Amino acid sequence: MKVAALALVTLALTLATVVASAADLCIYEPCAPAEDGTYALPDLPYPYDSLEPSIDNKTMGFHHDVHFKGYTTKMNKALAEMPQADGTIEERMTSVDVANSDPSSIFFLNNGGGYLNHKMYFATMGPGGSPISPDGPLAAKIDEDFGSYQNMTEELTAAAKSVFGSGWAFLVLDPATGDLSILAQPNQNSPYLQNLVPLLGVDVWEHAYYLKQGPKRMDYVANWWDVVDFAKVEEAYAKVASS
Ligand code: MN
Repeated sequence: MKVAALALVTLALTLATVVASAADLCIYEPCAPAEDGTYALPDLPYPYDSLEPSIDNKTMGFHHDVHFKGYTTKMNKALAEMPQADGTIEERMTSVDVANSDPSSIFFLNNGGGYLNHKMYFATMGPGGSPISPDGPLAAKIDEDFGSYQNMTEELTAAAKSVFGSGWAFLVLDPATGDLSILAQPNQNSPYLQNLVPLLGVDVWEHAYYLKQGPKRMDYVANWWDVVDFAKVEEAYAKVASS
């Protein structure tokens, strides 16, 4: 009986792993389309003015309601024109061929990338921010891969500074190795294009900061750190790290 029970537990665990791994590339909601097949613009999970004074109310309004909405609408258009109907946005992004893309793939790369980047960006901020749990699994992995939490933040900040023109700097996880690294990307290029999962990222397009900070990008990045909600990042890391 004991052996049979163990075998059942093992089978159940194996099945759970297989079921989890397919969807786990998506770590920030929504991970599935609505009933009509389109992806919704997620509501901002906190009031627009609640990140003041780090990020101002007006910037948040334009950024979420105009820019993020625009990427969402255009990504849904891109999806309607794509032959392949299944898979999450994240999974589809991993299969885009960057080097040899037709116009409809480029349209998806830009707007699907904009959608993925922004759903992570808005989900990982919150009023007052939330510091990383010093004894949690994410902090331990950051220590292992960067030497310290401080080093990670310095590398991510330096990557944000290094972006020429519009783009992003990300903390990414390689699901094949479990390792973390920092990645700077131009435009709306998603880390999923390189089979990397973005856990956290800072938008350094001028629309993210110019109303308040003008050309002072690094003042904005410093303020952004104050509203990063690491509880959300840790939750997302637990999803992908356990798959
Ligand atoms: Mn943006």
